[in-house]
Amino acid sequence: MGVLTGRTALVTGAGRGIGRGVAERLARDGARVAVHYGSNDTAAEEAVAAIEAAGGSAFAIRAELGMPGDAERLWAEFDRHADGVDILVNNAGIGTSRPFEEIDGEEYDRLFAVNVKAPHFITRLGLPRLRDGGRVINISSGLARTAAMPQLMAYSMTKGALDVFTRDLSKVLGARGITVNSVAPGIVDTDVNAAWLRTSDEAWQGAAAYSALGRVGTPADIADAVAFLASDDGRWVTGHWLDATGGSLT
Ligand code: NAP
Repeated sequence: MGVLTGRTALVTGAGRGIGRGVAERLARDGARVAVHYGSNDTAAEEAVAAIEAAGGSAFAIRAELGMPGDAERLWAEFDRHADGVDILVNNAGIGTSRPFEEIDGEEYDRLFAVNVKAPHFITRLGLPRLRDGGRVINISSGLARTAAMPQLMAYSMTKGALDVFTRDLSKVLGARGITVNSVAPGIVDTDVNAAWLRTSDEAWQGAAAYSALGRVGTPADIADAVAFLASDDGRWVTGHWLDATGGSLT
């Protein structure tokens, strides 16, 4: 018996990276986990297989986010496997490599569609399925609180918006005993960073130096913070922004 036995979790963007780490951790704690993803069937199948190999329970649901009807499609897929959800982790997100001077309206709109609009409507349409006493956990970023990487401004703005969503939603859902929190990673070793992080030892060391703890974060570092908020131990924490940057903001 794990602390989440009998509960169902939905983790968006759980085929790879931080989302996969969160899905594996929540499954290890006993939850049945919906592994949402966008297009990489193989990665999602591997994530489900890894959870099952470790004795957990999971199923994959595919829904490309950032386009009209995305939240409806996600829940239609979910409903084929489960009849309610206790823990919703809005993790799926995209980044940008284009600075303020270069970003165009199309990329700006896509960033906000995937990183802000999708979690907003996934949560809203999920409300009838979200059980009282449940959890909503939004994966933000340390960049919502620091100008350390102004070249990622539009991305960071999406996370600022997500944090406002967290704060206000905690008041909206509090009467139902549902907590709503943001978890903010710093630099984590995932595919989204591979193109620069893994190119040289210098890049890796530079990234490690951002954190007070002197290393690059792992998906498990973030997953363990999420697991606390998802558990009964996190019941009195809501509307909170949890710094999971390894001290990158200190
Ligand atoms: P990642 O390795 O690129 O994985 C992204 C996951 O999200 C994949 O499962 C992907 O599905 C899914 N996804 C991406 N865009 C999608 C879309 N349009 N529709 C549906 N699914 C989509 O990302 P990550 O680094 O783990 O990041 C996860 C979250 O943490 C994001 O919100 C990110 O902003 C945040 N974060 C990351 C870092 C970091 O350093 N990595 C730092 C701070 C915050 P497919 O596998 O099908 O492509």
